[in-house]
Amino acid sequence: LVSKLPNVGTTIFTRMSQLALETGAINLSQGFPDFDGPQALREAVARHLMEGRNQYSPMTGLPSLRQQVAAKIARSYGAQRDADSEITITPGATEAIFCAVQALIHAGDEAIVLDPCYDSYEPSVELAGGRCVHVPLALPDFTVDWQRLADAITPRTRLIFLNSPHNPSGALLTRADLDKLAELIRGRDIHVISDEVYEHLIFDGQRHASVLAHEELYQRAFVVSSFGKTYHVTGWKTGYVVAPPLLSAELRKIHQYVNFCGVTPLQFGLADFMAAHPEHVEELPAFYQAKRDLFCDLLTGSRFTLTRAPGTYFQLADYSAIRPDLDDVAMAEWLTREHGVAAIPVSVFYQSAPKDMRLVRFCFAKREETLRQAAEKLCAV
Ligand code: PMP
Ligand code: GLN
Repeated sequence: LVSKLPNVGTTIFTRMSQLALETGAINLSQGFPDFDGPQALREAVARHLMEGRNQYSPMTGLPSLRQQVAAKIARSYGAQRDADSEITITPGATEAIFCAVQALIHAGDEAIVLDPCYDSYEPSVELAGGRCVHVPLALPDFTVDWQRLADAITPRTRLIFLNSPHNPSGALLTRADLDKLAELIRGRDIHVISDEVYEHLIFDGQRHASVLAHEELYQRAFVVSSFGKTYHVTGWKTGYVVAPPLLSAELRKIHQYVNFCGVTPLQFGLADFMAAHPEHVEELPAFYQAKRDLFCDLLTGSRFTLTRAPGTYFQLADYSAIRPDLDDVAMAEWLTREHGVAAIPVSVFYQSAPKDMRLVRFCFAKREETLRQAAEKLCAV
């Protein structure tokens, strides 16, 4: 067999979680909560499962869940998106991204990714016969260098990926960034995949600049989100994609052959919970900001240097003052094996990371006691 992805191995998330398991380290590597989703949500799913809602759901997703998503979008961003023609429920944001890429990319096309970027983008593009062009975000704050992005556009460019709030840095795009992008692609055959899975994890009173609320950009965009992040149930692998009707129709042609539909009782339960608890998403910023602040406050006693993440449930930490001799992959392994805390190296999100970068990523979606135990160990490093 000739591999279609010769350069791909097992993801860093699987490897670090496995190492944490083997060594008994506290796992702040792969991004997932160590607490459960809301009880009412789990009960709703259990009820639907026991009441026999266990057969295929509609290919585009359960209508009541699509309506709840449309209502959430209206409340959060003041945008009206049609539940029938613009919203599709998918088995995870990852599948949504994959299908959107397959809909957009033909052999020989180019997609621009902003490094560091999430690991599923590039393989999705390559499987469609395309190629990723990597443009680094500007350090230290992981902002978009608009000139570099403009310079990377060629006649073959068909797609630009956005991710805000940004994994791994937590950085946020602003409305001005969206305006710049809209201007850049105006009149060109270029579309956007906006990965907004951390849309409700945003701190310090800031507002998420969603592509859903940017009328011009939205007309060229697939906007992706994940119930896994918003409702603390990453293992449910349930997400959605919002796109104008013509784009949604193309995506659905692919989605119906990749998966056909999402998991039925999960969709019923999510629809019930969202209808009964619209306040859940409004409470998320304070909920996660308290965790970020606890973790960062505890680490002020350490030799790591931190700039508080503006969003997501990830916190970057610079370890230059501790082991400048180790690259970040070696550092993450050393921290796990020798100090009992697993982290993710940031260079794996890059095609080519700056040589002097000394950053690891910690996930703070953890119970207070987990964060305290981890911080104690990290302060001893
Ligand atoms: N995009 C980003 C930036 C992510 O961090 C994740 C988390 N795994 C995903 C997409 C995928 O989300 P899901 O688990 O719903 O497929
Ligand atoms: N999004 C998660 C992270 O960044 C990982 C998901 C996965 O394991 N594929 O940690």
